[in-house]
Amino acid sequence: GSAMTVVKTNKAGEPLVKIERPAEGVARIVLNRADKRNAQNFAMLYQLDEAFSTCARDETVTVIILAADGPDFSSGHDLGQRDVLPSDFDVLGNWAEFTAPGDEGRYAIEKEVYLDLTERWRNVPKPTIAQVQGRCISGGLMLVMACDLVVAADNAAFCDNTIDLGVCGTEFFNHPYDFGIRKAKELLFTAGWLSAQEAAATGFVNRVVPLAELEASTLNMASVIAAKPRFALKMAKEAINAAHDAMGRPQAMSTIFALHQLCHSHNMQVYGMPVSTFEIKKP
Ligand code: ZN
Repeated sequence: GSAMTVVKTNKAGEPLVKIERPAEGVARIVLNRADKRNAQNFAMLYQLDEAFSTCARDETVTVIILAADGPDFSSGHDLGQRDVLPSDFDVLGNWAEFTAPGDEGRYAIEKEVYLDLTERWRNVPKPTIAQVQGRCISGGLMLVMACDLVVAADNAAFCDNTIDLGVCGTEFFNHPYDFGIRKAKELLFTAGWLSAQEAAATGFVNRVVPLAELEASTLNMASVIAAKPRFALKMAKEAINAAHDAMGRPQAMSTIFALHQLCHSHNMQVYGMPVSTFEIKKP
């Protein structure tokens, strides 16, 4: 990788992810790149993984909130970071050859930083709550899908715009389970916006609260859960996740990941780049 382009801090020189301890038993992981609408470069994803691991291994943490600084939760993957490689960081998996030509390199990269990292966060053995305000696009949606619960501000809006980029959905793909079959198709086919209220109606969002109450409301939910027996919480999460997996999630997710890679490959052949356009949607 070219270390010159690895951006590990925000404009203020702070880490891209920080951990706060707002209440007993509760850790709050904060995406800290508001100047880029919390666009996720690889550095942010590895910092996020480190933060989840730190909280998972800290016996004083029972519940983890995933929040974001600034007006928007996340604009998705940082497409301007394509020359940065997982090998610029502490790689977690054994899929190497990140610079291999053709699909070999890209497959390994996306499996490591998008699919497997997100799956690790989904399996953190403590309850996680996404605290969402403003826009949450594609890669941003992946982070929320990996969390157990979602509290959304009334100004939150969710979108998967991968169709507009010539791709069939995000790498970590939980849409049919989170939104239901028909709404998942609408979300993907139209690349349109789902409001917080609409997302709550699909079951994707647990609670919608006024923006001014988002932080307090999420923290209140976290504190209620943090007072419960920790082991029972872990087992409850495992139980629900096992039921989710029994519905075919792992098989469906490996299929969509292969189809997603096929789209990248198609776009490389037709447009000479893995996505068909870099156009970014506005709500
Ligand atoms: Zn991709």
